[in-house]
Amino acid sequence: MSRQLRRWAAPLAVLALVAWYGVSRRPEPPPAVETRFLMDTLVSVTLWGTDRADAPGRIGVAFEALEAVDRAMARKEGTPLWALNRAGGGILDPATAEVVSASLAWARRTGGAFDPTVAPLIDLWDVLAGPHPPPSGGQIAAALGRVGWERVRFAPGPPARVDLGGTALDLGAIAKGYALDRAAAALRAGGAADFIVNAGGDLVVAGSKGGRPWRVGIQHPRDPERFLRVVEPRPGALVTSGDYERFYEWEGERVHHILDPRTGRPAGGCRSVTVWASRAIDADALATAVFVLGPDAGLALLEATAGAEGLVVDAVGRVRETAGFGRVAPGAAGR
Ligand code: AMP
Ligand code: MG
Repeated sequence: MSRQLRRWAAPLAVLALVAWYGVSRRPEPPPAVETRFLMDTLVSVTLWGTDRADAPGRIGVAFEALEAVDRAMARKEGTPLWALNRAGGGILDPATAEVVSASLAWARRTGGAFDPTVAPLIDLWDVLAGPHPPPSGGQIAAALGRVGWERVRFAPGPPARVDLGGTALDLGAIAKGYALDRAAAALRAGGAADFIVNAGGDLVVAGSKGGRPWRVGIQHPRDPERFLRVVEPRPGALVTSGDYERFYEWEGERVHHILDPRTGRPAGGCRSVTVWASRAIDADALATAVFVLGPDAGLALLEATAGAEGLVVDAVGRVRETAGFGRVAPGAAGR
């Protein structure tokens, strides 16, 4: 090494180190986030590492995808699903056909624990109306008489067609998951790779947060101030069904929105169920089904389902999980 070079070697090395440190410590650009109220919950879309000038457009397209699903598949007056139920069947648009087809497949796979024809029971219990006397045994039996996914005839088409066989569809346990998948697809199509779409705790994650895993809290089913666990989910979907989401208390009993199609009453085996799967439509259907089945049968179903893992809080607050849950949703360190 020449004397000249030797003279500069040390300062150059320091400079290089400072430059490297500066680059590695460069503050992350803040994420682009937008939150809207839809599907009866707060939905936020967060993008990371994207050109911020593009972010509003990309986020807008994701919300359009979510809103399109809600417009088609909510059971409120005037929607296509509402009209389909009134007519007892008819032609389905491709998105609704996909969700109805998946619903019937999950109904079959879960032995009817997940049943998209629970609409008459949901109306009978009317949990959203607030505290009121629960329905009588006779009323429950009458509503159950109009429930049964096996009576639905689905022809994939195109165009897809359904005959409801005297039942009515409620896609509330699966459409949000489908909407999340559509939002994720819209974001990917727009070039985004690192994002999280969170619909009231049900979410899809993709990529990372500047090289670090996304970190999310699983709601504690009895303490809204607390997380049950903070996890770093692998890319995919994490969906929770809980008896704390929509409920009222009546004479010491919790009356909530997840109904057991075998009894016609709110399912009693769990407080909450969280499911990871690569698609949110599957995680959503499974979370509801496992909730209805209860911890033992529910965890067995998850263990037997490839690509799905889950965590259950049982009726007394005990937490149980599938053998692989920690692999797809490891607990975050340092919390
Ligand atoms: P989730 O929060 O995904 O568990 O969905 C709950 C919603 O699904 C309820 O508000 C009802 O609209 C509907 N639902 C309730 N019980 C069932 C069931 N056993 N199978 C399918 N959908 C259900
Ligand atoms: Mg669900």
